[in-house]
Amino acid sequence: MKLLSPILAISFLAWSLTGCVVNPVTGKSQISLMSPEQEIASGVQNYVPAQQSQGGQYVVDPGLTAYVQQVGKKLAAVSDRPNLPYEFVVLNNDVPNAWAMPGGKLAINRGLLVYLEDEAQLAAVMGHEIVHAAARHGAQQQTQNVLMGAGVLLAGIAIAEKKPEYGMLGMGALAVGSQAWQAKYGRDHELESDEVGMKYMAKAGYDAQAAVELQEIFVKLSEGKNAGFLEGLFASHPPSHERVSKNRQHATKYPGGVRNKEAFQRAMAQVTKDKKAYANYQKAQKLAGDKKYIDALTYVDQSIAQQPKENLFWEMKGQLLLQQDKTSEAVSALDRAVQANPKYFKPYVFRGIAYNQLGKNDMAEKDLLTSQRYLPTQLAAYYLGEVSLAKGNRSQAAQYFQQAAQGGGEIGQAANAKLGRLQ
Ligand SMILES: [Zn+2]
Repeated sequence: MKLLSPILAISFLAWSLTGCVVNPVTGKSQISLMSPEQEIASGVQNYVPAQQSQGGQYVVDPGLTAYVQQVGKKLAAVSDRPNLPYEFVVLNNDVPNAWAMPGGKLAINRGLLVYLEDEAQLAAVMGHEIVHAAARHGAQQQTQNVLMGAGVLLAGIAIAEKKPEYGMLGMGALAVGSQAWQAKYGRDHELESDEVGMKYMAKAGYDAQAAVELQEIFVKLSEGKNAGFLEGLFASHPPSHERVSKNRQHATKYPGGVRNKEAFQRAMAQVTKDKKAYANYQKAQKLAGDKKYIDALTYVDQSIAQQPKENLFWEMKGQLLLQQDKTSEAVSALDRAVQANPKYFKPYVFRGIAYNQLGKNDMAEKDLLTSQRYLPTQLAAYYLGEVSLAKGNRSQAAQYFQQAAQGGGEIGQAANAKLGRLQ
């Protein structure tokens, strides 16, 4: 206790009612400064913004999400905390990643699913993530942060800064509120999740050997690709030969179990069919990053021809057209993006910008405000300032520019310049 500063000691005492609890997975007592109710609340509060900032949900084939949910529910039901309000989503994101928030809010990226071969491997991912939630790793991480004086973050969760995807409009950062949530669990939590995850797999009838293969896939991935691509996954799940061999040991305890390869491949049929379309989209993103917008448009048009139901392709086309001052065409493309997935913030931001440039400020305002409801961003705040100015509402404009200025960077500077002129 001597290590605690007086303020931390006081907050420690204030929270000591929830202090000592028995871990639902290990059965050991441990100190926890976050109550189960706080955990659940923090998951509920952060789940939607985290999804939005990482591509939104994958909607081209809702059957895939239903399948992932069914596998997730099966594992959650045999976990040590079957009554958490579990939720499972597939995120429309190319990065191979999966995560669990406190309280049982899980996500797996389309970009990880493509590396898996069967349902047992999917169960290995989900089982692992469910343990993070069931064993209260998030709460333990918070408690440790507090005890080590790293800051009092009782109700919140660690937020890592999202890197801008590419420099659209010379201001690619969607900074405020668009930070990607990333779980950063320690080595012990990772090993515990691997081990207990296999127990859940076996209880649900899956072949636990798949968890060994999963780690082998991760090791291979981390060796073969550039670090940036893998950042997402390995920030929270560092692959290692150690984990492979530990998993191999534990797997011997759980012989047998199903693989369900056919069911998995059936569920993945659409994503597998669209592989080329997503590969072209990735090429387009890279070209746009190098400011080769016209070449990027060629690739994204190919993606659209291959899969016209993918909102990300239309949204990118809209951004590229906006970049080339083809504003009305940009609106048409962004209309398609919104139609394909009305629950994703980004096309609303760019359509709002386009409408502002076309002088249709009521429509611009509506789109920008819609985007803010899904995920507040600096870019939308800035353009809401522009819209307010265009409508002659200077005090409201100042408020929006103030918001945008807080995010810093290029947009922040632009917002500050506007504020200077307003005063
Ligand atoms: Zn993990």
